[in-house]
Amino acid sequence: MPVPDGGDTLVVLRGVDKHFGPLHVLRSIDLTIHRGEVVVVIGPSGSGKSTLCRAINRLETIDAGEIVVDGRPLPAEGRELAALRADVGMVFQSFNLFAHKTVLDNVTLGQIKVRKKERKKAEERARALLDRVGVASQADKYPAQLSGGQQQRVAIARALAMDPKVMLFDEPTSALDPEMINEVLEVMQQLARDGMTMVVVTHEMGFARSAANRVVFMADGRIVEETTPDEFFSNPRSERAKDFLSKIL
Ligand code: ADP
Ligand code: MG
Repeated sequence: MPVPDGGDTLVVLRGVDKHFGPLHVLRSIDLTIHRGEVVVVIGPSGSGKSTLCRAINRLETIDAGEIVVDGRPLPAEGRELAALRADVGMVFQSFNLFAHKTVLDNVTLGQIKVRKKERKKAEERARALLDRVGVASQADKYPAQLSGGQQQRVAIARALAMDPKVMLFDEPTSALDPEMINEVLEVMQQLARDGMTMVVVTHEMGFARSAANRVVFMADGRIVEETTPDEFFSNPRSERAKDFLSKIL
């Protein structure tokens, strides 16, 4: 898919650096994500992909540089931080649902607490979203009663319920049994088609080829290549990318 042109800038990272003690995990990261764009981030384990996502959601602080979401620098705390976390939806490898709440409550509570919606409206929206991701019939169950694929689709619905401006997916299918991967990827494909702005860390190269506007390849805390999926898969330029692709394809 071509990069949507004329689309404005939604997320900007400029000169972002992050250390964990002596470990330099993000090195001068510059990245711009446009509205409606799907950016797939790939790279070896330990290259900084999760830290990058977590920094955009301010689950990690950064040491230098700046991150701007929809024209605003990331807030440090309080109500504004909660609003940012709602604007920047995140889906993790481990499903991270509230274990002691029903599926419906999982998708309803944030709308009430953060978006200040009435319960009735929030539940209506939750049911519509659960239907959209194909788990409407599971609304009254608890997460542990669902399969991994169903839980992950609930996690997507929960993030969507906040009407996020951008969705971050950090290896959303890596913890799933193989037969459940596609049901989650299909929901993500549909979201992409509907125009959601998405940053997706994944090793699912089929998804990258069909849904990504752009592939960002990271190694050792740096963005090593940033190009179209066609170009990246057919003609990777760096040795790191060639080596990585030879191991996973
Ligand atoms: P990836 O998602 O690409 O596998 P991560 O962003 O998770 O990479 O990690 C990048 C590096 O930072 C790794 O070496 C990892 O061990 C290290 N790291 C990640 N989180 C922490 C943390 N909270 N404390 C110390 N080191 C961390
Ligand atoms: Mg990771």
